[in-house]
Amino acid sequence: MKTIVWDVDDVLNNLMQEWFEKWWLPPRKDCPIQYNQIEENPPCKLLGINSFEYLTSLDEFRLSDLGKNMAPIPEVLTWFHQHGECCRHIALTSTPLKTAHISAAWVMRHFGFWIRSFNFVPSLRENDCFPVYDASKQEYLRWWGRADILVEDDSRNADAARTLGIKTIIIPRPWNSCQATTAEALAHLSGLVGL
Ligand SMILES: [Mg+2]
Repeated sequence: MKTIVWDVDDVLNNLMQEWFEKWWLPPRKDCPIQYNQIEENPPCKLLGINSFEYLTSLDEFRLSDLGKNMAPIPEVLTWFHQHGECCRHIALTSTPLKTAHISAAWVMRHFGFWIRSFNFVPSLRENDCFPVYDASKQEYLRWWGRADILVEDDSRNADAARTLGIKTIIIPRPWNSCQATTAEALAHLSGLVGL
């Protein structure tokens, strides 16, 4: 049975779009950017803000009821209902320690029927200081050593995983070069696991 490693933000959920359209845009009606124009992640330059401002706003959203109550991406949830039991699954996300418990609860609430462990590589914030076991998802995956397939929206993480012999599926987002639809990407995943 293959083991699939799922990124969480912008793979199981729609974090960037939900943050942008429900949190960032409403008090900034004159913002000329639309979600589908966010071709860089992080989008600091596009929005004319610095990294601190962006991450502060994103983390506030993650901690809000809107963030906690994000819906799973329907196509992904449907894939799990149809095929989830054919594989083992874990979640691997890069998120700050202060929001990791919310992400963990969210994953278990929506995907715990199939995803049996939540793992994260802390995304460092100002004044964070705690043990660093892995500085990247690649280092985590190298240490763990059991991943067959990684599902990601960040092509840098996917490229790094492929150097470890892990197959990758990219979920299309404005900031990556994936030309497939989400349905096509998930059909490709089904092919990789032999369905
Ligand atoms: Mg992601």
